[in-house]
Amino acid sequence: AKRAGRSQVRLFDESMDESVRFRQTIEAGLREAIARRELEVVYQPIVARERLDIVGFEALLRWTSAEHGPISPSVFIPIAEESNLIHELGDWVTAEALSECLRWPHQYVSINFSPRQFRRQDFVETLAARVAASGLPPHRVQIEITETAIFDDDLRAAETLQQLRALGFRVALDDFGTGYSSLFNIRNFALDCLKIDKSFIDGLGREVESAAIVNSVTHLARSLGLGVVAEGVETETQNQALRLAGCSHLQGYYFGRPIDADATADLAGQALPA
Ligand code: C2E
Ligand code: CA
Ligand code: CA
Ligand code: CA
Repeated sequence: AKRAGRSQVRLFDESMDESVRFRQTIEAGLREAIARRELEVVYQPIVARERLDIVGFEALLRWTSAEHGPISPSVFIPIAEESNLIHELGDWVTAEALSECLRWPHQYVSINFSPRQFRRQDFVETLAARVAASGLPPHRVQIEITETAIFDDDLRAAETLQQLRALGFRVALDDFGTGYSSLFNIRNFALDCLKIDKSFIDGLGREVESAAIVNSVTHLARSLGLGVVAEGVETETQNQALRLAGCSHLQGYYFGRPIDADATADLAGQALPA
């Protein structure tokens, strides 16, 4: 037992080393990624339920490392978030997304902000200055944040959201339902819409619980005056269930995968007028 215990400790140490090394490799690569032009922003349509027209696009970051090939944002964003790199990456995404949005006739761009970006003292001021300099009206910019961003310091977060809304930005709460927020404790935050996490959409047509959750979230959100975006819609069955539930907006491979900037500008131009 003693020997097994010792070897377990050693194995654990080795895997720690490995994960630390992995993080360091990613971090070092990411530091160079902007200058090496390894980053790209792709855009996924967000569709309004009634007319099925594209009202906005979510900006999603892509990294193709010359050394390691494509690396998922769910891998590198958390690593960037733990270092100061998230600010540099986030600024780059924001600049790209704003300049692309200018090419679209009326759609908004929905940008993901990590909790560390959102909590920066100068977040609102800097964003407002950038958007003003771009010439885009603030209502063409949607800020996506997760509940982690608002619940760790909820008084200040509530104030930040209030400021963003007062300036005319749209604000969406991303991944709704995956954390500890509920419709009860989000009612004090100035939000425009909730994005119901894909995990609940996945269960539609398979388990009755998912439909019950989606229905009640949609119903209560509407009574609070919030829009509801269903994310990760992949099938016609899910689409039907979500339309019945009354989700105001839909997003997912069923409506369109994320595409590059030029293809997005073409698609945006073909969409119905606002
Ligand atoms: P998210 O914000 O929840 O974005 C939705 C993710 O689901 C995206 O993955 C999108 O490509 C994917 N998706 C959309 N529709 C479908 C579908 O129908 N089926 C499936 N299977 N997937 C779908 P992606 O692009 O890999 O991004 C993963 C996460 O990385 C994002 O989750 C977000 O948290 C983060 N992220 C991506 N870009 C940025 C960024 O610019 N800044 C920050 N802070 N985070 C970002
Ligand atoms: Ca998002
Ligand atoms: Ca999401
Ligand atoms: Ca997510």
